Amino acid sequence: MAKKKKDPPLAYSYSKLRKYNECPRAWYIIYIQKRPQVMAPPLLLGGVVHEATAFYDTVCWKQKVTHSLGDWKACAKKAIGLSSPPLTSELEEEVYQLMESYVSYHELDLKGLIGIEERIALNSSLDETGWVADDAWFRLILDRLWINKHMALIRDVKTSNEMKADVFQIECYSWAVLIQYPQVQEVYCDFDFIRFEHITDPVVYTRDQLPMLHDKIMSRVAQIAEDKKWKPRIGDHCRRCGVRNYCPAMKKGAKPVRYPFPRNQKEIDKVVEDYSVAKTIAEDANSAIRDYADAVGDFNSIGRSYRWSSTVSWKKLNSKALFEALETLGIEPMRFFKPDMAALRGLALENEQVLNILNREGEKKLTTRLSSTIIKEKLPK
Ligand code: SF4
Repeated sequence: MAKKKKDPPLAYSYSKLRKYNECPRAWYIIYIQKRPQVMAPPLLLGGVVHEATAFYDTVCWKQKVTHSLGDWKACAKKAIGLSSPPLTSELEEEVYQLMESYVSYHELDLKGLIGIEERIALNSSLDETGWVADDAWFRLILDRLWINKHMALIRDVKTSNEMKADVFQIECYSWAVLIQYPQVQEVYCDFDFIRFEHITDPVVYTRDQLPMLHDKIMSRVAQIAEDKKWKPRIGDHCRRCGVRNYCPAMKKGAKPVRYPFPRNQKEIDKVVEDYSVAKTIAEDANSAIRDYADAVGDFNSIGRSYRWSSTVSWKKLNSKALFEALETLGIEPMRFFKPDMAALRGLALENEQVLNILNREGEKKLTTRLSSTIIKEKLPK
């Protein structure tokens, strides 16, 4: 009898770490049980547009030109043809529209360009290895990569409807580039939101931040390695979950978290009331953390310490600092506010009253919308 081939060891990527953070159960179903995913239309569309932009930039690169307006349609068609499952005619139309907009504001910078869809594979000793090698431990694909002497620029193409990006993504990319290219001292990363024809200002990481980036990635890897329960994490993201049919929580009747669009004054009042409750929770959370800081001293996070005093509140610090400090306490802030924030933003787009609240209060304050009960449970007595 033929011997069963051993599964290769688990390899990581930014997407895998992000998926685990979003929902450990989804991670388990996709990467351990290897169930097929059903792609939601926006994800399917995003993948095709992503590929079409890469085809187009590759054509420009090969021809050594900054743009090649006669070629974009063929690139869009090629990417559409590769889509599995095939796109509907409406989605195909959207691909052409997005590509037309992409080529209208892009000129490919050829100086220092070293990769389009550049692949980096590292083994567990952080040495370069083959993309499909058995010892590949971490794989990353960088949409565009330029290197000029000691500086690198990574550009990530985004097709989302929201101008929202995950800092951890650029941390992973910067980490990999700093490891792979020892001459690079500074990594600039930006996002190209093609629906908005907008390239963000770059975020910069320097070589002396490499240990911090490494620790962050390793702590997420360790979290996955230690998890034996793979608990479902229900939230707004469940609406787009490609493995919902296999989810035990959904089988038991759980519903994705979502604020319904308010249809009348009564429902609008309810949203406003929910918001005021959330504010109280946020204030409670602030005070719980402040008590903790008063009792045990400063928070230390990635080499910096954050002091809580009566005159300095988290609202005055940026949310990234707050998140990092909470993470050092073992509290995952995204679990507590992200679904509601996403829902509130969605509402704000369509509802003037909610929009006014967000404008008045400011998103920064809403980032403190945390469950004080859960935080209090976590804090040492
Ligand atoms: S439906 Fe939600 S809770 Fe269930 S696996 Fe998917 S993301 Fe996780």
